[in-house]
Amino acid sequence: MLTIVSPHSPFNGVVALTRRKTPSRCIIIPVRISEMFYSIQGEGKLAGVPSVFVRASGCNLRCVWCDTPYASWEPEGDDWAVERIVAEVERLLLPLPAGEGWGERALSAAGATGEPKRPHPSPLPEGEGTMRPSTIMSPAPTEGKHVVLTGGEPMIMPDIAELCAALRSKGFHITIETAATVFRKLPIDLASMSPKLSNSTPYERDGGRFAVAHEKNRLNVPVIQQFIDTSPDFQLKFVVAKPSDLDEIDDLLSQLSNWQPADVQLMPEGTDIDVLRSRAGWIGEVCKRRGFRYSPRLHIEMFGNKRGT
Ligand code: SF4
Repeated sequence: MLTIVSPHSPFNGVVALTRRKTPSRCIIIPVRISEMFYSIQGEGKLAGVPSVFVRASGCNLRCVWCDTPYASWEPEGDDWAVERIVAEVERLLLPLPAGEGWGERALSAAGATGEPKRPHPSPLPEGEGTMRPSTIMSPAPTEGKHVVLTGGEPMIMPDIAELCAALRSKGFHITIETAATVFRKLPIDLASMSPKLSNSTPYERDGGRFAVAHEKNRLNVPVIQQFIDTSPDFQLKFVVAKPSDLDEIDDLLSQLSNWQPADVQLMPEGTDIDVLRSRAGWIGEVCKRRGFRYSPRLHIEMFGNKRGT
């Protein structure tokens, strides 16, 4: 018997469900998906890597600055079976048919027509639409391609283990992006943890009604340690808004073992390029002094604060 947290409860996480499997009865609870798309990883040690993103909808926290409220504060989406998710990941990675230029197809595949997205819709520079077709059109096997399971909080999705196993069987590299409040041993390649500091607590948003629960649940040191101890690779990515956040980071790190400074990523909070730049300087200085890594928000720089990027 496996007790899990429901992504579909009124608080999207407080109520626990039990997934039951008996010889006579099998309750299949799929994964609620808010969006899937092919883009560039913008954060952490794999920033810059083309990746398919699977965004689970539903979260057990309510960060005040959450940049995906459609997967947390107001979760959207439908329940998808694991097989359908894997098929969509593969479809997003399909190479363009030989002989088709990149630019026109890429632009028309994703834009205003509402057709499903395939290549990222960013326009190519003039004249580069058909460069090196033999390279660009080469087959895109799933082996080694990157899939990012994000949210929301993917760890509270009932079928997350089944999804990871199915993706692993296809040879994908799997990153799971989590606030690390819930642990399950999963077949993943990178545990990208983002433990939440007090700067995330929504004391005023939505009348402050989620502040107490958020504050109570936002940090779970034993869970973070389990990820560190059992994951093939991990990173601790902190969203930093002000210098005093560093005291909280130090306090948390002092309670953890088996980590190196290079495992710690400091990322500026913000969805506006000017805000990110205003914080980059002093956060970068801290990284230089402490041996931490600076995490960009590359997707904001490249595409702006938009869905599907
Ligand atoms: S944990 Fe992530 S998805 Fe959930 S509210 Fe915070 S930022 Fe949003």
